[in-house]
Formats: sequence, structure tokens, C-alpha cells
Amino acid sequence: MKENRFFRFLWRNWENGFSSRFSAGFALLFSSVMMIVFLSLMMRSDMISDRLIQARIIGANSTAVVLFADRDAGKELLSSFAASQSIEVAYLFSGNGELLAEYKEENAPSTGILPEDMRRNGYEFGMQHLRVVQAVTHNGDDIGFVALRFGLRQFYQRLLGYVTMIMVVALAAFFIMKFLLFRMEKLVDKAESHLDYLAHTDPVTQLPNRHAFNKKLAESLEFADQSGSEVGLILLDLDNFKVVNDTMGHQCGDALLHMLSQRLALAARSTDIVCRIGGDEFVVIMNSISKASVDVNSIANRILDVLAEPFRFDVHEFFLTASVGSSLYPTDAEDSETLIRKADTAMYSAKLKGKNAFEIFLPEMDRVAQRRLALESSLRRALERNEMVLHYQPQIDLRSRTIIGVEALMRWDHPEYGLVSPAEFIPVAEESGLIVPLGKWALRTACLQNAGWNDAGLSPIRVAVNLSARQVREPGLMQDIGQILEETGLPPSQLELEITEGIMMENVDSNIQLLHSLQQAGISLSIDDFGTGYSSMAYLKRFPIDQLKIDRSFVNDIHQGGEAIIGAILAMAHSLGLSVVAEGVETEAQLTFLESLGCDVVQGFYFSRPIPADQFLALLRANSKKEPSDWVAG
Ligand SMILES: [Mg+2]
Repeated sequence: MKENRFFRFLWRNWENGFSSRFSAGFALLFSSVMMIVFLSLMMRSDMISDRLIQARIIGANSTAVVLFADRDAGKELLSSFAASQSIEVAYLFSGNGELLAEYKEENAPSTGILPEDMRRNGYEFGMQHLRVVQAVTHNGDDIGFVALRFGLRQFYQRLLGYVTMIMVVALAAFFIMKFLLFRMEKLVDKAESHLDYLAHTDPVTQLPNRHAFNKKLAESLEFADQSGSEVGLILLDLDNFKVVNDTMGHQCGDALLHMLSQRLALAARSTDIVCRIGGDEFVVIMNSISKASVDVNSIANRILDVLAEPFRFDVHEFFLTASVGSSLYPTDAEDSETLIRKADTAMYSAKLKGKNAFEIFLPEMDRVAQRRLALESSLRRALERNEMVLHYQPQIDLRSRTIIGVEALMRWDHPEYGLVSPAEFIPVAEESGLIVPLGKWALRTACLQNAGWNDAGLSPIRVAVNLSARQVREPGLMQDIGQILEETGLPPSQLELEITEGIMMENVDSNIQLLHSLQQAGISLSIDDFGTGYSSMAYLKRFPIDQLKIDRSFVNDIHQGGEAIIGAILAMAHSLGLSVVAEGVETEAQLTFLESLGCDVVQGFYFSRPIPADQFLALLRANSKKEPSDWVAG
């Protein structure tokens, strides 16, 4: 195949080059021949008219000779003319064609009578001679004839000279043209290869781009078919790379991608092909692998290892992680498209497992991916089918022992799968963008519900609603919130928004602006799942927030060695004037410990799991004034 292509390439180039040279050469030859023909016709016509004039002059001078039939004078006259002209033979005839005088070069034939049909003015241009007959006239009558014969040697010699000159000029022109063509072809080749390079190369990393990747993968699979070997495909997607671009700018992002590409090339084997197929997506095509899964495994782990080293740009140090998935040809797929899709499924599975991980494709991943697809398509209609509900989990103030707030949590009652866990459908909603209408719905429903509790005469509490990354990026968020508060009649002080650290860090400057507007509107703000993301004191100081929600994993570690961290978080938050909510409180021991450290608010199964609105209303009515020990776990 490769050889075929090579020969076809050669043939095409030779054919192109040959045909253009041939056409140019032919054009030159044709014009040279035309010029020679034209020149010879011109020379012939010049020669004839010259010789006719000579004949006329001799004729005019011969009148007396013919009148008196003076043969000696005729001979003298002919010799005097012939000597100075290129005349081979000259005859002077009387009116009845009788020879009066002749002049001829050696060995030239003699003649007798001038034939009757030639006794008139005329000429004959033969191959070797030009013959001219001119009448000698007296008082308008033809009294004799002059017949001259000219050799054409000189004519041919001159013509040959011209032909030689034209051919030399044409040849020179041909070689100059050939040289220019050659130079032009070189330039075209250079431009072509540069265009080809641009079309197939990623400008940031100099790696093959997606276009080139598709070609190279097709070649690899074809080679694998012929040789009976396997091809491994490793797909790598950087985790949260957008944060780098957003916070440090694209110049920094590009520099990191370039460094990354160099490290990937080091991690791969010399026969592997590393390509960049998207903003933060890379692939490694592993050709002719013997122990497929072992080879792929070792390269994927090497990739994760080289990524683990910090990346330095300017004075900054970055830690990049990636989710890596792989698939094998022909084990997992029979064509390139399926192979890519399966590596993507495996990569996605690694992402779901908490990122910075490597997964080999397994058939059950397809089932998971299919379920995701099914979930996504039915999620699109979940709102209009009233399948979404909010469950409420109380937040208890540890000093007053009362419910001071509630977190509204989305639940999906799927007609086929039953209750789908938010852990499963929220990521689907995030990726598909459906989280925006869903989030808006949750915000409106929670506000409406809380306003309803106000109307029922219960003491006002705060409802906390989680904001997703997509919602935070939506430009109309502030407007939507204002509209919802107005429509539902809920005072802004009774609404709290929860944003995770990860979201906060995605676009620090614009988020700070958003948080300021929310704060100005009188809405409370808390940082959710605190401690799991980029816990940075410097940023905490810059964000206008009211409270931190300590992630459940820290609460879970109480009495398992995690006490010091909680103590530190509490002390830090209090020093910044923030109140602290502990999530996931499940035991009395945890509660006592949190209370001893001065934690402000708690939330968790120890008090109640998230429950439907009607149950929460009953809980609110029944338990609002009881001691925590009297709480009934939901
Ligand atoms: Mg939350």
C-alpha cells in the first residue's frame, strides 16, 4: 500500500513535470520551425526580386547587342555582369530564340535554342537553381531574351546560418525555461509541504493534530490487519485544565501543553505516535504491540508518572493530572471509530472514578455509557414530566438547638430506574448543559417552598440551594435569582447559595464579582464541600462569603485521626469571621466533638436524611424546639 502510494506520487510528479516541460518544449520547437519557414520564404522572395532586377538591368543593356546581333559585345556584356553577380550561366537570345552570346562557369552545360514557351518574362525556383528569363525590348517589342541561372548555395548557406542561430536561441530558451520551471516546482513543492505540515500539525505542541491522527490510526489498523498484530489506543484528557487557561491565560496554558507534549513523547515508545486531538485531549497510538494489555498498561502508567512531576512556567508551579483510558484493536473494536469511542468510554470511566486515573476499556463500561446516554435523553424531559423533586435536609444551630436552615437537594424519580442518585445524574446534567434549567427549577421550587413555610406561620429559616459550575458561568444568573425571589416573595436573607471551591476557582475574578452582587442583594453564600478542592487561604480572604461547609469526609474522620484538621478549619474560618456548617454528622460522638470545638451548625443523618417537603414540614413543626437527643433519625 505504502509502496503503491510512493510510486503513484512519483508517477504523478514525473507526469506533471514531464507534461509541462513537453508542452513548453513543443511550443518552442513549433515557433522556431514557423520562424524558419517564414524566414526562408522572405529570403526566397527577396532573392527572386533581386535577381529579376538584375535580369532587367542586363536586358536593358543588351538592346543594342541584340539589334545588331553583335555576339562579341554580347559576350563581353554578359561576362562583365556575371563576374560581379552570383550568376552560374547567362545567355543572350535573339527574338526567335537563337543563342547570341553566353557566359558560363566551368563544366556548366551549353544551350542551343531558347524553347518557345520560355520566350517571355518569368522565373523558376528549383531545388538547386533559380532560373530567370527577361525579355530585351525595343520600342515595345520583344527583340531578344536574357536567360540567367543562379546557384542557390549561398542562399542555403545563409538559411542554414539563420536556422542554426534560431535553434541555438530556442535551445537556450528551453534550458532557461527548464531551470525556471525547476525552481518554480521547488517553490511549489516547498509551499505544498508547508501547507501539508500546517494541515496536519498542531501549532502549539508540533504534534500531529486530529486530522493527522485519523490518517495515522487508519494506517496503523491496516498494518495490524496485514501483520496480525494489535494496536493500542491511549486517550488522555487533562483534568480541570480550563482552570489554568482561565486563571493564568492562554500563553501559560499553551506553554504547559508544549511541555506536556514533550513529556508524553518521552513516556511513549519510539514506535508510538503521540497526537493532540483537542484542547486538552491527547492520544497515543501504540503500533504492533505483542502483549497488548501489558504494554498499554505500562505506557499509560508512565504517562501518569511523567505528569506527576510539577510543571514550571515563569515563577509558577503547576500540577497537571489526567484521566486516561485505553482500548485495543481488534479485541475491543473492529474499526477506528469504535476504537476511539471505547477508549473515550474508558477515559470517561477514569474521570468518574475521581480523575487522575487510568482505565482499560471493559465491556461493562459500554453498559454504563449506554445507561448514561439513556439517562441524558430522559433527563431532557424529566422536568416537563414532573419527575424531579426536591428533598430537604435540616441544618441545626448547635447553640439554639433549632432548625435554622435546610439544604434543598435534587432527586430524580425515573419512571424506569426508580430514584436515580444525584451522584449519577448531576454529572450527566452538568455535561449536557441540562443542569442550567434543572438548577433554575430547583432554585424556584426551593424558594417557593420556603415562602410557603413562611406563609404557614413557621419561624423563618434559610433554604440552601447548590449552584453548579454551568449555572455560575451563565451570564443571566443574577437576573434569574432576582426574578425568582420577586415571583416567590421569599426575602433574600432566607436564601443561601452553595458553591464548591472548584467552581469558585474556575474563574476567580468574575466569580468574585458575582459573589459581591449576590451579597449586595442580601443573599447568603457558603463554600460547599470545603477541604476537597483548592483550599487556599489567600482566596478565602478575597471571596465575600458567609460560611464554610466542612466536607463530610472530614467529619467521618473524627475519632479516626482527622480531629486536628477539623480543628484547624474551624479556627481558620472563625478567624475570618465565617460560620461553619459540618456536613455528614452521623453519630453522637461526632456531634459532641464538633460542639466542643465551637462548630456553629450541623447537618447529617444523625438528625435527618434528606426528606420530602411534607415530611420536613412535620419535622419542622414537631422538633423545632426539642433537644438534639430527642431528634428522630429520618
Ligand atoms: Mg451542598
